[in-house]
Amino acid sequence: MSLIVQKFGGTSMGSIDKIKHVASKVIEEKRKNNDVVVVVSAMSGETNRLLELALDIGGNHYKRETDMIISTGEQVSAGLLSIALNNEGYRAVPLLAHQIKIKTDGSYGKARIFSIDAENIKQEINSGRIVVVAGFQGVDESGYITTLGRGGSDTTAVALSAALNADRCDIYTDVDGIYSADPSIVPEARRLDVVYFDEMIEMSSLGAKVLQIRSVEFAMKYNINLYVKSTFVDGPGTQIKYLPEGGKMEALQVSSVACDKDEAKISIRGIPDKPGIAARIFSAISDDGIIVDMIIQNISVEELTDLTFTVSKKDLKRALKLTESVAKELNASEVISDEKIAKISLIGAGMRNHYGTASKMFGILAKENINIMMISTSEIKISCVIDSKYAELATRILHEAFNLSLNNGGNGFK
Ligand code: ASP
Ligand code: MG
Repeated sequence: MSLIVQKFGGTSMGSIDKIKHVASKVIEEKRKNNDVVVVVSAMSGETNRLLELALDIGGNHYKRETDMIISTGEQVSAGLLSIALNNEGYRAVPLLAHQIKIKTDGSYGKARIFSIDAENIKQEINSGRIVVVAGFQGVDESGYITTLGRGGSDTTAVALSAALNADRCDIYTDVDGIYSADPSIVPEARRLDVVYFDEMIEMSSLGAKVLQIRSVEFAMKYNINLYVKSTFVDGPGTQIKYLPEGGKMEALQVSSVACDKDEAKISIRGIPDKPGIAARIFSAISDDGIIVDMIIQNISVEELTDLTFTVSKKDLKRALKLTESVAKELNASEVISDEKIAKISLIGAGMRNHYGTASKMFGILAKENINIMMISTSEIKISCVIDSKYAELATRILHEAFNLSLNNGGNGFK
């Protein structure tokens, strides 16, 4: 007998019929003689609806109250699924965060889990019940409801898997796994049997919405046996795991290509090239809670330099305003911004043992006359910012050139 944590996302819980279908997936697992703990998201669209209500009444600065409001979608889902399970003759019990003491810090809207008291759940499991937990929510030190950030039910599921020492954590969603590229851009994209934790963290940070990035970091820390599977189509899904010790040969040089159109770029030109300038610009921006992604600075000409960086499109207006006011103080010659950009990235854990991936990528883009505006690299990722009108084309030609629809992910591995 194994203990399985299953998590069902909003699209899987989107209607009464779909919830009945989810119940059948839970029962299927239970009938394999497993103990099952289920984590549910709010019905699709519900969290947005609740968030709008909170904003409509002027809740902008009332983060605690907003969390109380937007956490309720999951409560409804947990109740509905429990009823569906009970109606099928299985004993289920719905539980909220305060009942299983999912303790978090007090940063409403993006709270972090400190601890979970698994005792309550274990008792329920031992008495033969299926436990249905409302995802996304926690309680802070003072007992107020918190939420874990958008997509946070993934993190609830992974954290529960760690607390319960579960044998497996299955994240059920509307896609049947993690793909080598977005299939709506690249029809030949391939479902990956395995994605390594490092790669998944890169993918999530590049905007792959399948798993909340925090849940991947959590799963990596506790080495959770993690899968992404489809609620609607049976299949093996994608396993997310550690690259085995000495497992270089198992890692593909390049395993996927990501296309992120969520960023915009800001350039500040003609600023003094001396200590403290970058600190001044970026502390103004980070003090306002804006995350900066890529940064490049030119070499200076006559002691003046240019600085270009990217922020998420939703933060562009604010970032621009802050940059303009620092630019004025610094006597900069101008500030320009560009929203029509896309960040194309190659990801692969095997890249760290391989050279030539970057030059091959640049060559492929050059052949199509696609200009590269910015470049950043990590051990397992190369990103290029290009004009957004070439985003889909670049994704397709890179996918093709690195043979990502085949099982050998580019040159030579596996
Ligand atoms: N319902 C929340 C959201 O829409 C949490 C989740 O679905 O994981 O972000
Ligand atoms: Mg999700």
